[in-house]
Amino acid sequence: MELPPLLEAKFNELIGRYPIKRSALIPMMLYAQDHFGFLSDELIEEIARRLDLNVLQVTETLAYYSMLRRKPAGRHHIQVCTNISCMLRGGKELYEHVQKRLGIGNKEVSPSSTFSLEEVECIGACTGAPAMQVNYDFYENLDPDKLDVILEQLQEGKKPKPVPVTSGALHERLPAEMPVISKRFGVSNSRSLSVYLQHEGYQALEKALKQMTPDQIIEEVKKSNLRGRGGAGFPAGMKWSFVPRDSAKPKYILANGDESEPGTCKDRPLLEMDPHQLLEGMTIAGRAVDAHRGFVYIRGEYRYVLEIVEAAIVEARAAGYLGNNILGSGFDFDIVAHTGAGAYECGEESALMESLEGKRGYPRIRPPFPAVVGLYGSPTVINNVETLSTVPAVIRMGGEAYANLGTPKNGGTRLYSISGHVNRPGIYELPLGFPLRRLIEEVAGGVRGGKKLKAVIPGGSSCPMLSADEIDIAMDYDSVAKAGSMLGSGGTVVLDEDTCMVDVARRIMHFYAHESCGWCIPCREGTAWLRKMLDRFHDGGGRAEDIPLIDELAKNMLGRTFCPLGDAAALPTISIVKKWRNEFEDHLQGKCAYRPAEVIAGGH
Ligand code: SF4
Repeated sequence: MELPPLLEAKFNELIGRYPIKRSALIPMMLYAQDHFGFLSDELIEEIARRLDLNVLQVTETLAYYSMLRRKPAGRHHIQVCTNISCMLRGGKELYEHVQKRLGIGNKEVSPSSTFSLEEVECIGACTGAPAMQVNYDFYENLDPDKLDVILEQLQEGKKPKPVPVTSGALHERLPAEMPVISKRFGVSNSRSLSVYLQHEGYQALEKALKQMTPDQIIEEVKKSNLRGRGGAGFPAGMKWSFVPRDSAKPKYILANGDESEPGTCKDRPLLEMDPHQLLEGMTIAGRAVDAHRGFVYIRGEYRYVLEIVEAAIVEARAAGYLGNNILGSGFDFDIVAHTGAGAYECGEESALMESLEGKRGYPRIRPPFPAVVGLYGSPTVINNVETLSTVPAVIRMGGEAYANLGTPKNGGTRLYSISGHVNRPGIYELPLGFPLRRLIEEVAGGVRGGKKLKAVIPGGSSCPMLSADEIDIAMDYDSVAKAGSMLGSGGTVVLDEDTCMVDVARRIMHFYAHESCGWCIPCREGTAWLRKMLDRFHDGGGRAEDIPLIDELAKNMLGRTFCPLGDAAALPTISIVKKWRNEFEDHLQGKCAYRPAEVIAGGH
């Protein structure tokens, strides 16, 4: 098959980029889809031929990722998020408005092929909810009027201005904030090397290369009490120390930028506004464990960020901060930026590695853990983007000084993306241990419209909910765990007194049922059945015996699945049934205290 010259060149470049050719599969499919609008049989055969794969290997991977298409979409592919943060701010109504306005339904294309429409899961714009994407562009803080203007402009062949950076990351600094990794947010052209260098950029790398041994770097990270910011909270220094020193295989550093946990959008501004900080952190990690290659895995929905990170890599390489003999130290390290194609499960570290190897994002059975057998079967350090972006500050300040910004065992600061029913949704950097009540009332400006607080999701939709009388806790890993929930990804979602918790449970379960990879039965069947039962309640068809059954089904998933997705689906459900059981009972009586009476019969 003859390809257009630009695509031909891109394919050749991608094939030469990775240690194994198959890693180029997902990027090749995305670039091909960008050009042709969809992946035809002919294209699939061509890609398979170039990667020495068979057609089945390509199609099985293709079928796994929600962003890859076998049929043409419209010229403007409208993707409206209705997941939890957007739902709380009118995302569902917005989606219905677009349907009416365009006269098409989910995954349909308008007769002129100008538009196609899709209701999507969280796109990582929680602090700018309700939000949508048109192709790869983000539009945030929408309402039906703003949306109409965007659609009209698209219809007229104009390009409406997308949001330049993540909504919520740019705001006036509040006295409570402690900017360490976010201090360049809002600085003009902060993503460029020149601005980064004016703000302490690459000083930590120089120190690490010229004044520290690899062991000293690991020791400093251990002293900092830096715990993984992706969700698990595992100590980063300890993780690095597990990498075998004498491995004959190459080692890798992997930055996990697949943040897809509903309510979470804090890695996006780090990638788009401060990519050099991440590259510096990865290079220091490479030095610490003697790795010479790193990958940044960016979620597919953040495709525009790929160009930003790639541009930063080119700049860093040209200035001697990446490549061979970095800063004359004799140390070699280089980085490749890579995107997924839409799959929450790829945020799980072993699934991410499978995905980077060009396969479906199925988790691996562990042990062995990635530090020993990771990417391409080699020792791999995999950390969240925020964790690695913190490393330069740790090395610059010293581990102890960084640790002292937080609480014992919970070092430093972290980013919180706070969304939902608050006056000032946004992304704020605060010390670990900051009180949750102050985060809601002071930092986020309190509950919108003077309403009372009903519930809080402290760290992304997989966390058990806290009720209004449980928010007098410190936001650190240990304190939130003691309160029966998790700090998770720092995606804090606030729900006001008018929120129907049955609806919330239903929407969250829709997400996990959609994202379950289907590998293990408790997760695949459990999420599907729970979705059905919660839908039935939502539609007014609930039965009394369903309430304990929902609880039992969710509890049966706990701890019985290969990866944490099973628990992620079960935990919020169990907490909602336990704390807001009365709302399930009200629905049985045909009542929903938070919506008009007729609503139960007709659905919300
Ligand atoms: Fe797949 Fe769910 Fe099992 Fe994870 S828990 S491996 S997502 S089926």
